[in-house]
Amino acid sequence: MLLCDEYLTPASLDEAFAAMEKNRGRYRIVAGATDTYPWAREGRAGDVAIPVLIDVAKIPELRERRIDDKRVRLGAATPIQRFLDDPALARALPCMPRCAVWFADDQIRECATIGGNIVNASPAADGTPPLIAHEAEVELAARRNGKIARQRMALCDFVRGRNKTALEEGEILVAFECDALPGYGGAFEKVGHRRSLVISLVCLAALVKLDAAGRRIEDVRLAIAGIDAVPKRLGDVEKYLRAGMVTAERLEQAAEMPVNLVASRTRQAYRREVVRGFMMRGLINALRRAGADPNMLSPEQEASYA
Ligand SMILES: Cc1cc2nc3c(=O)[nH]c(=O)nc-3n(C[C@H](O)[C@H](O)[C@H](O)COP(=O)(O)OP(=O)(O)OC[C@H]3O[C@@H](n4cnc5c(N)ncnc54)[C@H](O)[C@@H]3O)c2cc1C
Repeated sequence: MLLCDEYLTPASLDEAFAAMEKNRGRYRIVAGATDTYPWAREGRAGDVAIPVLIDVAKIPELRERRIDDKRVRLGAATPIQRFLDDPALARALPCMPRCAVWFADDQIRECATIGGNIVNASPAADGTPPLIAHEAEVELAARRNGKIARQRMALCDFVRGRNKTALEEGEILVAFECDALPGYGGAFEKVGHRRSLVISLVCLAALVKLDAAGRRIEDVRLAIAGIDAVPKRLGDVEKYLRAGMVTAERLEQAAEMPVNLVASRTRQAYRREVVRGFMMRGLINALRRAGADPNMLSPEQEASYA
């Protein structure tokens, strides 16, 4: 069980930093606590005591939501459920609803935050690949000499390894900003020991924009997690797909390209097979949702990867 002496709910960043300064070395930040509670239980005999828990989920800046046709800014304490039930968000971030629908269950999704998912930095955290594909930047804040200082960095640089990020002691993840991609077809594929209620072993986010005829890829963004310690953007595959028309052969070729990137030492053969299948299914689904000319996709491929 997780025990604490004090559970604080600051109403502003200033209040949160004051609590962090006062309790240096004896606090932990929580948002939805859906990673923190299981962490305190799993594999530990007895109770885990943290003197002070500082719950940042009610801070208005961490609940911010700004969306236009070019950019999205979302507070770190945005619950995963919002990606499913907020139509403007779903339009701007087309693979997030597909990610959210397989994320845990309704109750967990209402508590679990996107910021907690990013900071926890599980090798296959579901929220990270879609945001990397949207070229997200994170905004971090700290209080120095009584003033709040902010810095930004690319999400792909923020995640440093298994459960490791660039977040330093005394910092809070405030928000992320990323490209809005309305009109793109989005797909999210994941496999775990079960489809939901578990962290994925491997997951893939795919975003595709087609020309008006639905035949040529104008833009494609692919990011994958679970094949190495950190999620990866698949730049070489994107470049290859942008260079030509969509054909069954080119899709097969693209699906093969990242297979050799699998570096995880556990279940390597399985992960390679999963990557190939995910690439095909993710690309086909994203193309279909982007409005691909039906004649461009082979019916056999569509049936095999439906
Ligand atoms: C039953 C179950 C199913 C799950 N299914 C999935 C799933 O399908 N996919 C998936 O990816 N995850 C899943 N998870 C894991 C978890 O729900 C997510 O990682 C969730 O997004 C974590 O968010 P949280 O707000 O609950 O994090 P918390 O537990 O509150 O925090 C996690 C970590 O982030 C830090 N933190 C949180 N917010 C901030 C902030 N703003 N600034 C600085 N540090 C911060 C905390 O100190 C802690 O170290 C599941 C968990 C459970 C219990």
